[in-house]
Amino acid sequence: MKRIYLDHAATTPIDKRVANAMRDFELEYFGNPSSSHREGQRARAAIDTARESIANFLNAKPQEIIFTSGATEANNHVIQGLVGHYYLHEYRTKPHIITTQLEHQSVYNTVKKLNEQEIVDVTFIDPSPDGLINADDVIRAITEETIMVSIIFASNEIGSVLPVREIGEKLAEVNKRQKHQIMYHIDAVQAAKFYNCNVDKLNCDMLTISAHKLYGPKGIATLYIRSGVKLKNLLYGGSQEYGKRPGTQNTAGIIGMAAAIEGLGQLEDRQELRKNIAKLRDKLISEIKKIKDAELNGPEGESRTPDNVSFTFYGVDQDSLMTALDLAGIAASTGSACVSGSSEPSHVITALRKVNDRQAATVRFTLGKDTTASDIKSAIKALNQIINQLRHSSR
Ligand code: PMP
Repeated sequence: MKRIYLDHAATTPIDKRVANAMRDFELEYFGNPSSSHREGQRARAAIDTARESIANFLNAKPQEIIFTSGATEANNHVIQGLVGHYYLHEYRTKPHIITTQLEHQSVYNTVKKLNEQEIVDVTFIDPSPDGLINADDVIRAITEETIMVSIIFASNEIGSVLPVREIGEKLAEVNKRQKHQIMYHIDAVQAAKFYNCNVDKLNCDMLTISAHKLYGPKGIATLYIRSGVKLKNLLYGGSQEYGKRPGTQNTAGIIGMAAAIEGLGQLEDRQELRKNIAKLRDKLISEIKKIKDAELNGPEGESRTPDNVSFTFYGVDQDSLMTALDLAGIAASTGSACVSGSSEPSHVITALRKVNDRQAATVRFTLGKDTTASDIKSAIKALNQIINQLRHSSR
């Protein structure tokens, strides 16, 4: 049976060219990039080239780029690092952070934990019922104590594209009028494939991207930190990554991340890909809408990432649906892969205020560059059959 992979938001298959570049690199350039001998310096030079290329992608300077073990670490670094620096060097009053109910767990649970420990106050901006955030709501939430705004560019669960650029512009206006600067972080992990991540255009101070969502390897991410922004380290050790993230670099991962980003092509190429995938997405959405008691999660049209289809099916058991889809050859996900296995609806689905006592299953299908019209057709056929069967068997 041909498998149909519709879980690209969880992770993308690695691009063959990326895998080859990494393998060749690992075989040739085994030196420790911190070593002064030739083997080390060759590895170091390759990292420098990769850093430069990723910096170009973000319109940043190479020294504003650090590599981490993933976006989870990068997001923790931003939040814990900024709060840690504030407590050590600037402490006035208990700091306040503004974020949204749509964040990935790596932001959401980090601020929630700091809030529970009474280290920070947090405002979680609520989404509209169709999963969007209003830039003015973010600005209105600013208090004298606000030190940071952290916003997800595109939701990994429901595909909402948030107005990160508008928030950046408005925040810059606020910052012009006050002495204490509010830092702006964007989690662009799901957005980088499709949208412009130029840090100057976005007016952000920090930005996170992860290679394994971009047809690159797992376990490597890039954190952009604008020059002058001060963060307390998460880790202490050697002086790698400008002393901000010690530990011998994941050299092949870094080479792979740069190759993956190169593979995305220019912005125009990404727009083309966006259009093609969005057509398939809209076909899938319109067909699923025909199923009784199926409700789309998240917005439609331009405010939705081209790859995301998320539906709640009422009167259907979640685990049975996921198992049946997998047996039918379709890899999908229950909202976010990171909360799969927990039967609670995610904080994002809960924030849409649709959750009630009715039995319901939420499924996320996310398309990729190799998804075909025939994949979508097969997925629709299988889904219709499975939902029918499950609803009949539970009567
Ligand atoms: N942010 C978002 C929006 C994500 O989708 C993910 C991964 N699901 C992460 C952060 C965490 O990324 P990583 O797997 O690299 O830790």
